[in-house]
Amino acid sequence: MDLALVTGGSRGIGRATALLLAQAGYRVAINYRQRAAEAAQVVAEIEAQGGSAFAVQADIAEEAQVVRMFEELDRHGTLRVLVNNAGILFTQCRVEALTAERIQRVFATNVTGSFICCREAVKRMSTQHGGQGGAIVNVSSAAARTGSPNEYVDYAASKGAMDTLTKGLSLEVATQGIRVNGVRPGPIYTDMHADGGEPGRVDRVASGIPMGRGGQPDEIAQAIVWLASEAASYVTGTIIDAAGGR
Ligand code: NAD
Repeated sequence: MDLALVTGGSRGIGRATALLLAQAGYRVAINYRQRAAEAAQVVAEIEAQGGSAFAVQADIAEEAQVVRMFEELDRHGTLRVLVNNAGILFTQCRVEALTAERIQRVFATNVTGSFICCREAVKRMSTQHGGQGGAIVNVSSAAARTGSPNEYVDYAASKGAMDTLTKGLSLEVATQGIRVNGVRPGPIYTDMHADGGEPGRVDRVASGIPMGRGGQPDEIAQAIVWLASEAASYVTGTIIDAAGGR
């Protein structure tokens, strides 16, 4: 059966994406780091809708855990879609307060984790290695364009690196049956902002969005799933801004 892996799939944009991928007919692997109960709930939701899913634990910042996760996936079917969705940010601060430890933690998940997941996915999807091809979608951020001054330049820089990964990898694997694209969400109503110390952030910045509002997880999931689908069969190296016109 064709598999789709969503990293950080237990809540927010990842959860919405997992639900849509299941509706599209994939058996969905819901990766989670710590939230086993939430991941199990997403699996149950998918199964209640007649879909197929399972939860798979791994901290994507840990290479050995990522390798083990992909080996576990191999027992469930053929990987055709990878959504690099897991991402973190920390409390807002100016550059004077940034520590090396914080920068390294942000990059370990958002950049290194996404890289390692791409590597493992390419090994399995590549038609040059006997695979059936596939699609990778990297969840970046509008921050990659704005740089998020006075908030989290570390997070913004990590998303800029993800965009460069999307561009470079898309060209490297273009003849191997693998498309690599990305989505840059604007402010979306998820729990990530509460984790970053400002639960009301989306409402605060909404007035600066041309459409005058924040987005919903499903509005990002739709773009991700379109890029992963056959409808986008001639699209690679593209990063869609889903940010209300920002
Ligand atoms: P979220 O915090 O609700 O979801 C992120 C998920 O990733 C969580 O389940 C978290 O546990 C998981 N995760 C974090 N680090 C992990 C790791 N090392 N290994 C495995 N899982 C890990 O946030 P969200 O808003 O749904 O964010 C999803 C993606 O969208 C992120 O990459 C984020 O940067 C991006 N994004 C979000 C917004 C927004 O406004 N919410 C805007 C732009 C981009």
